Amino acid sequence: LDECILDALSLIYSKYKTREIIISFPESIPADSEPFLVEANMQLLRTAFVNILDNACKYSTQAVGLTLEKKDNSTFLVTVTDQGIGIEKEQVDKVFLPLYRATNSRNFPGFGIGLAVTKKIIDLFKGTISIDSNSDEGTIVTVEIPAAPFSDNSL
Ligand code: ATP
Ligand code: MG
Repeated sequence: LDECILDALSLIYSKYKTREIIISFPESIPADSEPFLVEANMQLLRTAFVNILDNACKYSTQAVGLTLEKKDNSTFLVTVTDQGIGIEKEQVDKVFLPLYRATNSRNFPGFGIGLAVTKKIIDLFKGTISIDSNSDEGTIVTVEIPAAPFSDNSL
């Protein structure tokens, strides 16, 4: 999972060259802990994180937050936080629909496809994605992905 997030970050850094992304590990992971493994296709998962990070950078101007956390030893928890334009409460549920774009975002470039694809990808790996947002304040996207038992063919 960390390799896939690093890949996503490098793509985002090359697109938004000067943007600060603050990465944190709320619960520090002991050095001798099991590796971060999830059963997922790396390219697909990277696409999912690129889409989420791209939105956070596109719809805000300040630093973006990224947290990586292990939850109950069986789930990986990733959050992406921005302090941007946010989404109106009545529109939050619609952003996973293909081609849907919230009213306040229509001056920004985009097709309304990124989150629909992202949701499909996260579903494929039996994870969940949720969005908490306030208009004019910012957005928090939370992704949970179940951990895979350690095995050599896990990606
Ligand atoms: P693209 O397909 O190029 O990603 P997009 O960014 O418009 O276009 P999605 O990524 O699917 O499409 O997001 C859907 C809509 O959800 C956006 O148009 C925007 O209205 C809203 N949205 C998503 N993320 C954020 C965010 N971090 N802040 C504010 N609005 C957001
Ligand atoms: Mg997008």
